[in-house]
Amino acid sequence: MAARPVSDRWRVTSRRPVDLSARDASAKTGAPGDKDATKAHTATLRARLAELQAKLYAEGSRSLLVVLQAMDAGGKDGTIRAVFEGVNPQGVKVVSFKAPTPEELAHDFLWRVHAQVPSDGDITVFNRSHYEDVLVVRVHDLVPEAVWRGRYARIRAFEELLHAEGTTIVKIMLHISAEEQKERLQERIDNPEKRWKFNPADLSERHHWDAYQEAYGEALGQTTARHAPWYVVPADRNWYRNWAVLQILVDTLEQMNPQFPPAAEGAEDAVVV
Ligand code: ATP
Ligand code: MG
Repeated sequence: MAARPVSDRWRVTSRRPVDLSARDASAKTGAPGDKDATKAHTATLRARLAELQAKLYAEGSRSLLVVLQAMDAGGKDGTIRAVFEGVNPQGVKVVSFKAPTPEELAHDFLWRVHAQVPSDGDITVFNRSHYEDVLVVRVHDLVPEAVWRGRYARIRAFEELLHAEGTTIVKIMLHISAEEQKERLQERIDNPEKRWKFNPADLSERHHWDAYQEAYGEALGQTTARHAPWYVVPADRNWYRNWAVLQILVDTLEQMNPQFPPAAEGAEDAVVV
C-alpha cells in the first residue's frame, strides 16, 4: 500500500463542524526537524513545486485552484510569497477577493469567483474567496441565514463542476491564535514598514473572533470533500506554516502527476539550420 501523504495530518475528513479552539495554532507536529531542518526541507519542496508546476503548464490540459483563507493577519500574503517564490510566474496567478463592488453585489456570489478560476495549465491562488460569503457575510448578517446556509450546497456544487471539468481544488485555512493575531496587528501599527497594511476595521473585527471561528468551523465541515479537501494548518509559526503549505501543494500535484506532452512528430531527428 502506498504511504499516506504527509499532508493527510491537516486534512478535514468529517462533515462535522471543526472545533478550531481545540486545535493548537502553534503546533509543529510532523515537522522534519527543528526550525533550521524544517527550513532546509522547505527549500527542497519549493524546488519540487517548481518542477511540478512546469510540467502542469507544459501539459496544458488541467489546472490547480488553491483557496487560502485566514483570519485578519493570518499570514496569507506571507505564505504566498514564501511558497511560490521559485515558480514560473507565467503559469501562476494570485487573485485577491475584497469586499464586493456594487456590480459584483448585483450578481450571485459566485459570479466574480467563476470568472477567475484557473485556465488549463495554470495554478491560481485565491487570497480569500467565495468562502467569505459564508464567513464575513454570516458574522455581519449581510444576508439572511437561510441564504448563507444554502450557500454550502451551492459551493459544493460549484466545486464539483470545476473538478469535473479538470480543475483540482485544494483549500487551506491558516489557523492562528487570537494572541498571535493581537501581536501581528500591533506590529502593523508599530512598524512603519508594515503600517500600510493596518486597517482600523481589523480592530473591531477582532471582537467577533468567536463568531468567525464558529463560522469557519462549520464551513470547513460542510464543504470538505474528497475532490476539494480542506486543510487546517497551524500558522502561528511562519516556518512551520510555509513547510506545511508546500507539503500540501506538492502532495496534491504529485497525485495529479502532470507530464510533459510528447514531442512533435520527427522532433528527435530535427536539426536546426
Ligand atoms: P490581511 O489579512 O493581510 O489583512 P486582507 O485579505 O484582509 O489582508 P484587506 O484588503 O484588508 O485584505 O481586506 C479584504 C476585506 O474584504 C476583508 O475584510 C474581507 O472580509 C472582505 N471581503 C472579501 N470578500 C467579501 C465578501 N464576499 N463580502 C464581504 N466582504 C468581503
Ligand atoms: Mg485585512
